[in-house]
Amino acid sequence: MPVAKFFARALAASALAAATPLAAQDTIRADIAADMPGLMDLYRDLHANPELSFQEVRTAKKLAAEARRLGFEVTEGVGKTGVVAVMKNGPGPVVMLRADMDGLPVVEQTGLPFASKVRAMSPAGIETGVMHACGHDTHMTGWVATARQLVKRKAEWSGTLVMILQPAEEIGSGAVAMLNDGLFTRFPKPQYVLGFHDAAQAPAGFIGYTPGFALANVDSVDIKVKGLGGHGAYPQSTKDPIVLAARIVTTLQTLISRELDPQDAAVVTVGSFQAGAKHNIISDEATLLLTVRSYSDETRAKILDGIKRIARGEAIAAGVPEDRMPEVKLADTFTPAVYNSPEFTTEIGTFLKGRFGDKRVAQVAPSMGGEDFSRFYRADPDNIKSMIFWVGGVPLAEYNKAKKEGIEMPSLHSPFWAPEADTVIATAAEAMTAMTLKLMKKP
Ligand SMILES: [Zn+2]
Ligand SMILES: [Zn+2]
Repeated sequence: MPVAKFFARALAASALAAATPLAAQDTIRADIAADMPGLMDLYRDLHANPELSFQEVRTAKKLAAEARRLGFEVTEGVGKTGVVAVMKNGPGPVVMLRADMDGLPVVEQTGLPFASKVRAMSPAGIETGVMHACGHDTHMTGWVATARQLVKRKAEWSGTLVMILQPAEEIGSGAVAMLNDGLFTRFPKPQYVLGFHDAAQAPAGFIGYTPGFALANVDSVDIKVKGLGGHGAYPQSTKDPIVLAARIVTTLQTLISRELDPQDAAVVTVGSFQAGAKHNIISDEATLLLTVRSYSDETRAKILDGIKRIARGEAIAAGVPEDRMPEVKLADTFTPAVYNSPEFTTEIGTFLKGRFGDKRVAQVAPSMGGEDFSRFYRADPDNIKSMIFWVGGVPLAEYNKAKKEGIEMPSLHSPFWAPEADTVIATAAEAMTAMTLKLMKKP
């Protein structure tokens, strides 16, 4: 079911009112609620002090100290700024819970009293504002809340808990960095990997899950279109790269519309087209920057091959000489699609419906966004079951108003994204705690 449809249906009641009452002995929800004031202090501190990808030094140090206080065996500096916290508690499965730590180069405009005023230097040497515009601060606070609940309930579970704080999700490099630094060799390797992401298109406290492909393959492609430059008044003695690049942009649109199975979703977006410097000069080069999204490895390969073929084919049609053919370059920052183990995800989804009520939890359609959470499952797909789920963050009144008046809501990465953090954190922590206890239940 598309996310919007489900959430529209669920809107009759607020998240908390829609929740099913719990058995008297189940105190997870009440315990997290009691912990909320302290958790919100932590959230506001993280929000006011965001750090860019691979610069999460203060954040990592602060949360590593908290994990140590809780009794975890903590290792810092895994994959540059990553943190691994391990708690061995008898025989049983290894369960890994992940939160990501990085903020974005965005100047915050939420007007919140604890809004970030931080400025930092990007790796490209550009000074920029920094903001937790993707809500990774809610992920980290939910992670701490979950750790506290699981430590408190140590008598109820058996196995090994591995809680990680991942750097550099926003540049798609942090998960790989941790894996390359021995995440699954120096530390217990998980059978289960769980994480959540806040959602900017869903009301606060609602949970969405997607069995199978949940988020897309993300590729960046650069096309350098070469022509033969010259005077704007004498096109006959040139090969105009702007006209050629324009044709490439247009023909690329047929990759999805004419070459792909209509049931197979993918995106090719040309986000940047740069060429020329003056009215009367035909430049000798144009540059196109593309984002390419897909789900399966096969579709990804098909589209990437198609881009190369179209670029070359259009250049041939334009009469560009062989030694001036377009250069198509695939960036090495590829983020593979997130795949939620289907049966496992359906089982956990059903479990969450039982806990939160099925007005508050639903299966939702996959997203074309990307997440390097995918890397953990892909490291050993035969032996790892993995799931990431969405937790809605839009205050209900704002959500209803936006729907009623047809207003676009701020998306993730927007300078205006201000989730209802307490609801996101409480919901996510309750879900993560309950899921982990289910997986590690003492026999
Ligand atoms: Zn993001
Ligand atoms: Zn994110």
